[in-house]
Amino acid sequence: MLKLGLIQPNFQTGPRHLNSFYLPYTLGCLWSYVSQYDDITDNFEIDAWLFDRPELKVAVDKFSDCDVVFASMYIWNTQYCYSLLSLLKQKNPDLIVIAGGPQIPWRDKNFFLEHPYIDSIVINEGEQAALHILRAINSGDSLPKTVQFDRLKELDELPSPYLTGVFDKLIAEHPDIEWVPTLETDRGCPFKCTFCDWGSATGSKMHKLNMDRITAEINWFADNNMPYLSMTTSNFGAFKQRDKEITSIIVECNKRTGMPTAISTSYGKNNADTVFEISKMLLDAGIQTGAAISFQSTTPEVLKNIKRDNMKINRVSEVADKARAFNMPVLTELIMGLPGETYDTWVDCFDDVFSNKIINLDVFFLQLIENAPMNVNDTDAFDLKSFKAYDYFYETSSRVDKELAQGTAEIVNVIKSTSTLDEDEMYRVNEFSWFAVGTHCYGLTTHISDYLYEKKGISYREFYLGLLDHIKQDITVQSWFTDYYNAYQFWKNSGYTHNKIGGYVIQGGWKGLNSLMPVIQYNNYVNKMVDMVVEFLERYDLDPDVISDYRKIVPLYVKQYGKYLKEPKVVNLKSDIMNTDKVVAQDRYSHYPETLRDHIDYMFFARRRNWYLNVLKPF
Ligand code: SF4
Repeated sequence: MLKLGLIQPNFQTGPRHLNSFYLPYTLGCLWSYVSQYDDITDNFEIDAWLFDRPELKVAVDKFSDCDVVFASMYIWNTQYCYSLLSLLKQKNPDLIVIAGGPQIPWRDKNFFLEHPYIDSIVINEGEQAALHILRAINSGDSLPKTVQFDRLKELDELPSPYLTGVFDKLIAEHPDIEWVPTLETDRGCPFKCTFCDWGSATGSKMHKLNMDRITAEINWFADNNMPYLSMTTSNFGAFKQRDKEITSIIVECNKRTGMPTAISTSYGKNNADTVFEISKMLLDAGIQTGAAISFQSTTPEVLKNIKRDNMKINRVSEVADKARAFNMPVLTELIMGLPGETYDTWVDCFDDVFSNKIINLDVFFLQLIENAPMNVNDTDAFDLKSFKAYDYFYETSSRVDKELAQGTAEIVNVIKSTSTLDEDEMYRVNEFSWFAVGTHCYGLTTHISDYLYEKKGISYREFYLGLLDHIKQDITVQSWFTDYYNAYQFWKNSGYTHNKIGGYVIQGGWKGLNSLMPVIQYNNYVNKMVDMVVEFLERYDLDPDVISDYRKIVPLYVKQYGKYLKEPKVVNLKSDIMNTDKVVAQDRYSHYPETLRDHIDYMFFARRRNWYLNVLKPF
């Protein structure tokens, strides 16, 4: 019997205390597929799994008895896998090492010279390739360097790793872990967004998995106490009836067991009605807080450059109208540094998003992903320059020094400049995003900027560019902007940052963009910021009642550490700032962390659920 090692390492995910890890789904699928065949189970057995990132020597010991290892590599584990596989081969030159996953640079002719410890690589889906490789090993045939099969069209018969018990032992061995399962309902994506490498299956037909399997898996997750469900689908809602049925099953399961409490998915791009219907079902069940619709940019030229100009979701105002019709908040994403974007067009993107009443906005730096079309084809055309970031994943922030020292720090190529954004302009884009997200999306200026837009015709562009100049006159705030600049430069030059902004240590480049309100609260500066906004408002000659109502609203809306709304609070208003004379405010999740550090952690980690905003509505 030959012993198999299955290597799919990942970082801990989510808030620290949850001790959450993803179940190694990809390799689970491979084993459940190949183990349907007796010639495989008669000759191979699983000896060891790797789902986390222990020190390399610990991982090497884990696989010391193995004859064959499979490694599933993606952006979050490539360097770790290379180091581990190399050490394993050094220790046991007879070990057969197979690697696969979207991150393998299979186009690189020198790949096997640079990674001689890898025997074969798998391109695209792995099920048939794994079977082919194991059978070749079994019969003593030599292994091809690359193994690639056509994509599976019939997914109906694929066995589920959850339902076939592949993970039972792993789960039993780690009762302290809150596992995150992956739910796959279909494979492929018909779109070709150039920055994306969705499972190396973009621009391809979506193939469905079996509904009985999906139903049973959702129930299995709940019965195994897994509150968070990560869906892989590229376009949830694209199959109207079926995807609504899947949502009903999730909702029913939540009613029966209380789980899942949250899901993540990527919604359809041409199916807004269905997406809103699904989101409403999830909102009513308390599983999601709104519809997630990712614009990435609203600049027509940029959308053309990245091949997203054919999507109906680009009509931001239509999406916003539907959201209003469904009484549904929208979460969207924008990507900084896409080809063709300029500082001006970027500010207009925010204007588009805010004027359509979308306040839950997650902004990302463009990443150049190994096999994504943009990285393969467009870097010269748009003069895309990037830097290596080593701390882009949640848990990397606290362990980057250790990872760098052992040579396993994962690399994300983050955009530094483009043909339309030199490095200085890129910084302005970054700084504006930090400021606009930290003030508008985190509740400091949401209502007053809405009021100016609706009642006075002042654009968000004018408001935020003016306010940005104004608040920089405060010496303390000015020092935060200097800190932010220095943190970004340090990050760009060294690939990680432990810099302080306003005295608060920002661990991890990804946190920087969302750090303004945490810094404001860390410095107990909410009221002072309100004072500065009020000073700025003098230029608009507003009714004093608007100003005094604005002062009342902010402390109710912004969830502040130590000032939690443990009971609903009703406040009278004198102006038409909220088109009502009485509002009630209450905590969105009745969740009151005990330390400022935990409070700030939730501001980062639960930002997509608007954790940092209280609910404020007419009474
Ligand atoms: S970004 Fe989404 S829609 Fe575009 S190719 Fe990737 S998975 Fe498909």
